[in-house]
Amino acid sequence: MNFSIASQNPESHYLEVALDFENLSSNKTNLVLPVWTPGYYLILDTPRYIVDFDVEDINGNKIKWHKKSKNCWIVENGKTSKIKVKYKVFANKKSVAESYVDADKAFLMPNTIFMHVENALNNPVTLTINPHKNWKKVSTGLKPIHENEYIFSAKNVDAFYDSPIYLGNQKIINFEHEGKSYSLGIATPEGLNEEKFTTDLKKIMTATTAIMKKVPYDYYSYIMMESGGGGLEHSNSQAIFTNGTFDFKSPDEYTDFLNFVTHEYFHLYNVKAIRPIELGPFDYSKENYTTMLWVSEGFTVYYEYIIMMKAGLLDGKEALKYITESIKRYENIEGSKHMSLSRSSFDIWLNFFNNESNVKQTTISYYNKGPIIGFLLDLEIRNNTQNQKSLDDVMRFLYNEYYEKNKRGFTEAEFWKASEQIAGKPLTEIKSYVDTVNEIDYQKYLKYAGLQIDLSPINSNEKKDNPIERNFEIKESPEASALQLEIRKSIFKL
Ligand SMILES: [Zn+2]
Repeated sequence: MNFSIASQNPESHYLEVALDFENLSSNKTNLVLPVWTPGYYLILDTPRYIVDFDVEDINGNKIKWHKKSKNCWIVENGKTSKIKVKYKVFANKKSVAESYVDADKAFLMPNTIFMHVENALNNPVTLTINPHKNWKKVSTGLKPIHENEYIFSAKNVDAFYDSPIYLGNQKIINFEHEGKSYSLGIATPEGLNEEKFTTDLKKIMTATTAIMKKVPYDYYSYIMMESGGGGLEHSNSQAIFTNGTFDFKSPDEYTDFLNFVTHEYFHLYNVKAIRPIELGPFDYSKENYTTMLWVSEGFTVYYEYIIMMKAGLLDGKEALKYITESIKRYENIEGSKHMSLSRSSFDIWLNFFNNESNVKQTTISYYNKGPIIGFLLDLEIRNNTQNQKSLDDVMRFLYNEYYEKNKRGFTEAEFWKASEQIAGKPLTEIKSYVDTVNEIDYQKYLKYAGLQIDLSPINSNEKKDNPIERNFEIKESPEASALQLEIRKSIFKL
């Protein structure tokens, strides 16, 4: 598959796309455009933005086509095994999961632009970009071929779809670290302290490698865009919006930003490699349901703090404050009595952007309860193994066993089996916190690390139907055993 893209008039937000398909084996070819972006659990309107779809043979003769469904085009190519497909894409979405083009820049999410032949995801892809004259630089995890910086290849369609491309006038910093190559592209570098920021990124990566012991790429691209919301993880890159400046108002704001970068970075292990079995290979045409996003997202939040502490960029007390915030956001809403953690994952396709007035009364977020479960599991494993094992061992086991050895995701049963083996005991209670809305016994687990939690109400005149809002501040306990002190020190250096 040879794809090419141009934008003659980017102010109009249109991209011109040409797809060459060869070796077509049947007389009808189904071309499919994905309707979601892995990592962004929402059905998108991608086919709505396809305009002037047209197919020709290599001699320029028109080939008939019709639509089978909203995102599938059936091309009646007959005996012709080579076709050229052309269309335009209206790219005007400021989202990490969709594409955007204007006079200054382009952010291309390939899955929202390029179709593939149905059930032929293993074919290699070559992409030629004809950049608009205003776009002087390119940032992507794809490697250029033939010394031409605008021709890229991907080993298959999945890898291609997993590789966003940013074109514009971003500042580019290339560096090497521990035998790997990196590109850092920053669209709005005002206020950037290049030396400090790249040093901090290296600390984060070194701390992550210390936990996971493997680095599953040769080249990684940080794509940091203008101001906006959200970020998305990829196997060889991350694309994130920033505050529109690197002139951070306070040290806390900078720490929050580093947490965010760490989150997207750790995802290259947790969700891209270590993944629920339902999340890859993907069905790009519909919802891919999983009950396990509390591991993929929630544990990634917990590891933000673990990695940042290991990197020396966050201290133990600050990390405990972040954990308190997660507990508050989970416990202090009515939804915590109505939605289990596994259900919050399965039903994310309904709730990704749920703006209904009853959302807090009926739903919870795995971004809040997920890290709590990661923390409890870490404490339980450490307590039961005399601090010889931890959640890190679970993550490494899942990586080695399922990603590397079996080359697939893990099932829910396999996740619990691995965790119980490493913990050396059944994890019935923690599992019940995932599958039910049972009240969490924080005090019991925190004690394992010589910590205690303040469960006193914040205010006494709480509304009858709402949960009592509690303080949830976590502190060092005055009395702790040697093992408890050791566990506290291992996690929080306190
Ligand atoms: Zn995430």
